[in-house]
Amino acid sequence: MALIIGIDVGGTNLRLGVVQYEVQHKAQCNAVGSQNERPKLLEEMRFQADFSGLCKLHGPDSDQAWHKILTTIAAAINAVRAKYPTVAAVGIGFPGFIDPHTQRISLSPNLPGLSNVDLSADLSALIALPVITENDALAAAYGEFVTVAKPLNNLLYLGLGTGVGGGLILNRQPFQGQHGVAMEVGHIIVAPGGRLCGCGNYGCMEQYASASGVSITYLEASGERCSAAEIAARAKAGDQHAVAAYSLAGESLAQALAHILKVIDVTDIVVGGGMSAGWQYMQQAFQQRLNQDLIPVLRGKVNVYVTDMDDQAGIIGAAMLAGKKL
Ligand SMILES: [Zn+2]
Repeated sequence: MALIIGIDVGGTNLRLGVVQYEVQHKAQCNAVGSQNERPKLLEEMRFQADFSGLCKLHGPDSDQAWHKILTTIAAAINAVRAKYPTVAAVGIGFPGFIDPHTQRISLSPNLPGLSNVDLSADLSALIALPVITENDALAAAYGEFVTVAKPLNNLLYLGLGTGVGGGLILNRQPFQGQHGVAMEVGHIIVAPGGRLCGCGNYGCMEQYASASGVSITYLEASGERCSAAEIAARAKAGDQHAVAAYSLAGESLAQALAHILKVIDVTDIVVGGGMSAGWQYMQQAFQQRLNQDLIPVLRGKVNVYVTDMDDQAGIIGAAMLAGKKL
């Protein structure tokens, strides 16, 4: 058994867990696949860490912001290591593009100003443990993949949070793309000429299907600024603007998914992220639009599940991806 710390870095908080898993020899892994690793989350902690605000405050290429981010993560890790001294490595899911060749973070749209930084090397120097960094949605996809009840070869993860991220497990391996930009599904354009997105284009899916997208839709219709969670509560109470905001989110997500499936043709899709809690208000519009937009041969052959792991998939996946590389 090995212990690895898994970390999910968000814009405003840091979630960290100690993951225990059975180490397998390489030959064994190849023979039976990674789903036999049976990870177990022993402990989970959450720390407030406004990295997004920090990056905005200090501006681009700020050494100060980067130093603060590193020392904050290191302090959280050391607090956990005091209790679990045999931890062998740290795996981090980070919201940004991670170059699969250099491990460097080339850019982080949610943490503006960070570019070409090496979290793995810089943090490893501080804590004297191996550190592996991956994209946060890819880590969550892998977390879902290694804990899913039935054996799968392929899995697509869609994470609905502040933005919308995607992660693909293809032939049992995480798929990063050549530059770590694979499955940036939130930026598939579903409303040409629509809302301006942080990426510079107009009408990207995440402008409608993310938590911030739902808030904007609701604000435009009602004049009130509310969180996605509050809008879900209002949808439950019968507020028609709230129901419409979630319906538009579901429809936009389905539009993008139909395009994605034309490219990768996978059967199993897991929807996670904080906003998946409001899935029941998106589901009908989602299913209707998906049936409409899918290539007819795929209709009825796509399984979409909502995660049952709360927000633990990112932590477990980050740890298990680090375990793969040890
Ligand atoms: Zn975009």
